[in-house]
Amino acid sequence: MKRGTYRARAVVLNSIDYGESDRILTFYTLEKGKLSGIAKGARRSRKRFVGNLDPLSHINIIYFHNDKSDLVRVEDASLIDAFSVLKTDIERLTDGCYLLELTSELTREGQPLPAAYHSLVAFLKLLEAGAGDEALRFFEIKLLDQSGYLPHLTGCLSCRTAAEGERLYFSSAKGGLVCRACSSGITGLIPVSPATAALLAMAARLEPEKLGRLKPGPAFLDESERLLYDFIKFQLGKELKTKRFMAKLRSAGA
Ligand SMILES: [Zn+2]
Repeated sequence: MKRGTYRARAVVLNSIDYGESDRILTFYTLEKGKLSGIAKGARRSRKRFVGNLDPLSHINIIYFHNDKSDLVRVEDASLIDAFSVLKTDIERLTDGCYLLELTSELTREGQPLPAAYHSLVAFLKLLEAGAGDEALRFFEIKLLDQSGYLPHLTGCLSCRTAAEGERLYFSSAKGGLVCRACSSGITGLIPVSPATAALLAMAARLEPEKLGRLKPGPAFLDESERLLYDFIKFQLGKELKTKRFMAKLRSAGA
C-alpha cells in the first residue's frame, strides 16, 4: 500500500484501549482486507468516534497509511450499522463475536478478500434477523473457502469414489472425506453422512442470502458442527476464545 489517505468500508473485528486516550483496533475492509490501526484520542474526541470503533460496528472509515508502519492511523469513522440488536442478547452477541474472531484468525493482512467482507456483513445481518446455528456453520464453510482452506467434501479423497449412500468419515489431518475402505489406520475420524457433506459443499458456493433461507435438520447441525470445529481447530492449532465461551454458555443453560 502506498503512503496516503484512504477511504474504506469496514467491520471492526476487535479493539482495545491503549495509553491515555488512544485505541488500537483491527478491522476488515472491503478494499484492502484486514488492517490494524490506531485511533489517536479515540476516547477523548467523542464527536469523531463515539462508539463507532467498538467490535461489530460496520463503518465508513478514513485512515492514513505511512509506509514505515504496519499500523494505519484512523482519522475518521462514521457508522453504517452498529448491529445493536445483536448486543441485546448474550447468545447472539457471542455468535456475532465468533464471526469476528474467525475472520480475524483465518485472514491475513495485505490479502484483500472482498467476498469475505460481504459474507461477514451478510451473516451479521442474518444473525440479527434471528438465524440459528446453521448460520454459523454456513459462515464457517464459506470463510474456509474464501481464505483457501476449503476441505475436500465431494467423495473419498483417497480413492476418488463418490461412495453414494455409504457413511463417510472426515479427517482434519487429511483435509477431507475418506470412505470406509480407505479409512483404516487413520485416527481422529469423524463420521459424516453423505447428505451433510453435500450440503456443506453446496453452502461453500451459495450466496449468504440464499443460505439464510435454508433450514437444515438436527443431523446436519450436529455433524457439521463436530466436523468444522475439529477442522478449524486443526488449521489454527488452537481453539477460538468465543467458541470456548459458547460451550460455557451452553453448559450453563443460558
Ligand atoms: Zn476411498
